[in-house]
Amino acid sequence: MPKSENQKILKKTRKSEKTDFHPINAFKESFIRDLMALSLEGELDNLRLKEAGILASIDERNKRKKIDCEGCHKSHQIKNLVLIQTRWYTPPSGCTEGDYWNEGEMQFICPETNVINRLLFFNDDVPYGERRNYENDPEEQFRRNYKSLFKEIVESCGETPEPWKNNYYANQNRKKFGLVEKRKSSS
Ligand SMILES: [Zn+2]
Repeated sequence: MPKSENQKILKKTRKSEKTDFHPINAFKESFIRDLMALSLEGELDNLRLKEAGILASIDERNKRKKIDCEGCHKSHQIKNLVLIQTRWYTPPSGCTEGDYWNEGEMQFICPETNVINRLLFFNDDVPYGERRNYENDPEEQFRRNYKSLFKEIVESCGETPEPWKNNYYANQNRKKFGLVEKRKSSS
């Protein structure tokens, strides 16, 4: 390429660079960038609103789910039941361990007979070391997704008063409550 051609191209480039840096163009660009950022935030707000709406609908659906009752042998909607959250104590040990109340089992009171239903879950199908992982723990999943949907939550840190019965309904109907399914037995 002859030298003059090169220079022409160089000049052209410089000219276009010069145009890019023109203050009005720079202003336009930053204006467009701001607009785009604004519309992205607006989009995110809309998504969050949509998410909140879906979560509320899920709660609304879940609180109508029914649990079979060991007290009256009928079934009750979750939203009509009083939940008892039991707690058990870990005494202090050493300098930093213990001295706190742990969440224990959940129970509900039959509104017709006042029999306490102990909601029991078992995940002995899962290897011991993995049982407390959330994804393997139907009890924690039930607690997270359903506890707040009961009519009322009562805390209890003493012994369960009579009359009470064991209730395995949620554990045996995990699909209905969207809980982790039991693993296929290897035997
Ligand atoms: Zn009942």
